[in-house]
Amino acid sequence: MNPSRFDKAPPTRYADINKPECETLEYRVVRIGREHPSSITWYIECPFCFAEVKAYLWSLCGGGKQCGCGALLCSHGDAYKMGILSA
Ligand SMILES: [Zn+2]
Repeated sequence: MNPSRFDKAPPTRYADINKPECETLEYRVVRIGREHPSSITWYIECPFCFAEVKAYLWSLCGGGKQCGCGALLCSHGDAYKMGILSA
């Protein structure tokens, strides 16, 4: 393990997404799955760290899904991450 400053960025919260230092990138949905009994799951490629993130659709539509890198993935196709300067 070799943590970088990028990894130490604090998790982005829903309240942060309109701040000027918050970066916005569109994410890509890799595939959509379904889990028993009726949960829709999206497999999302995080545009900041390129990890594949599994998110339940209900959690995306709620407060959003947190990626391990701190980015916040929201249901309308955007991911948000607070910039390094704010860390
Ligand atoms: Zn990420």
